[in-house]
Parts: sequence; structure tokens; C-alpha cells
Amino acid sequence: MARRKQIYEGKAKILFEGPEPGTIIQYFKDDATAFNNKKHAVLEGKGVLNNRISEFIMVGLERIGVATHFIKRLNMREQLVRQLEIIPLEVVVRNVAAGSLSKRLGLEDGAALPRSIIEFYYKDDKLGDPLVSEEHITAFNWASPQEIDDMMALGLRINDYLAGLFAGVGIKLVDFKVEFGRQYEGDMMRLLLADEISPDSCRLWDMETNDIMDKDRFRKDLGNVTDAYREVARRLGVLRENENTGAQGPVLVSDNGDNASI
Ligand code: UDP
Repeated sequence: MARRKQIYEGKAKILFEGPEPGTIIQYFKDDATAFNNKKHAVLEGKGVLNNRISEFIMVGLERIGVATHFIKRLNMREQLVRQLEIIPLEVVVRNVAAGSLSKRLGLEDGAALPRSIIEFYYKDDKLGDPLVSEEHITAFNWASPQEIDDMMALGLRINDYLAGLFAGVGIKLVDFKVEFGRQYEGDMMRLLLADEISPDSCRLWDMETNDIMDKDRFRKDLGNVTDAYREVARRLGVLRENENTGAQGPVLVSDNGDNASI
């Protein structure tokens, strides 16, 4: 069998050419990175969990009428998705102050926001994904005013869906990041939700204890990262009890060559 052609390797995923034109295979790696790649680890089983969690969320969003790139999950680590022209923006929706918002505006982590806030970041690793305004987006032609409106409306719909979904299993949705892409069909173009939605791209806090159940466990060296992801999957009903996600207990592999169990 011919080897599949790799299109792109990102920090947490690899994209391969799909079986038909217009399709792509998205492979979920176990790698975790933070602080613009300065911190890196391999968290055994993370890719399997994110594949399943993202599938579950994309299928749920399709059900309420949000168009996504997701076609089907192929196996433990791969899903078939539609090939899109990715808009080079990260769309962040926030319900509670945390992360870069707290830092930038001097807010206390956990403070409720007066309303959900949407932000755009320009996807450029070299620049560290800077925050940009609608002025920048339209002036540099990254997206049209109509696309900005559509991304904001979709971001809020996704937020409503996710906030309800997670609240139902005792998890507070603090914030999350999504990406969108354009699909062309003849003269028509539509925006689809792309990439993934998983604990790598959301802030998720246990409603009772405020325990962190997302990638901040990795960023802040809190340990038990995949255990937290597995708990998110378990609460969502994504994993059958005792299902093996390939993890024997996660091992932190630091860049200086030391291995430490976490
Ligand atoms: N986020 C992401 N990818 C990024 C940057 C942020 O998925 O490259 C997510 C992050 O996990 C959080 C939300 O977007 O759920 C808001 O992140 P924030 O701007 O606070 O940045 P951070 O604190 O991660 O630097």
C-alpha cells in the first residue's frame, strides 16, 4: 500500500492527504506544547482522548446546525475531515477571566465577565499569536467584515452549546479557542468549524472544586494531565468504562532529556 502523503505537521496534530479529493486525515499526536513551543512533553494517550472528545463535540454541534469539517472518526487517533481554506485567526470565547485576559487587564482568575467576550488572535507562531482587532483583520484581508460577523455569531452559538454540555456534567466552561475555514462549492462559499475542540483548546474547571481539567495542568505543572482529560471524556460518556486509551500512566518527557513521571 502506498504511504500516505503528509500535508502538514503541527504541534498536536498531523494532517495527511485523505482518500478522496477535498478530504484530509487528521491524526492526533500525544505531544503537548505551551508558551510558544518553549515547553514540550509527550503525554501518552492524550491524542486518543482528544480525538474522541473532539468527535463527540463536533457531532453534537452538527446536530444543532453548526457546520463543521468533521466527517467521521477513522480509528483511535485519526478522523476524516473536509479540506478547508483555513482563516488565519484563533477565535477565543471567554465566560470567566483567566489566562492572557487576566494578565492583560489585571483581572482575578475566576472572575465572572459581564458578558461573553470574543477575541481574535492572528495565527503566527513566530509572533506568538498576537491579539488583533477587526481593523487589522479587514485591513490585512485575513477575513471580510461578513466573515467576522459570522465567526462571532458561530462562536457564541458554540459557546452556548458547550457551556450547557459541560454544565450538565459538572464542568464550568471558562473559555475556549476555535478556528474556522472556508469551503467553496461552485460560486458558493461557507464557513465551517475546523481544527478540534478538546481540553487542549478549552479551559474546563470542575464546578464543585474548581479543579483544573484542561491543558493548564500541563502549562502550570500540576501533573495528572491525561487523567484529567480522561475524566472529561468519562463524564461526557465518550469512553466506555475501563477503555484502554493506550496510557500506562503518563510520562513527562522534558526537553532536557529528563524523564519524570507525572
Ligand atoms: N488557546 C489555544 N491555543 C492557543 C492559545 C489559546 O487553544 O494557541 C486556548 C486556551 O487553551 C484557552 C483560550 O484559548 O482555553 C484562551 O487562551 P488565552 O488567551 O488565555 O491564552 P494562554 O493563557 O493560553 O496563553
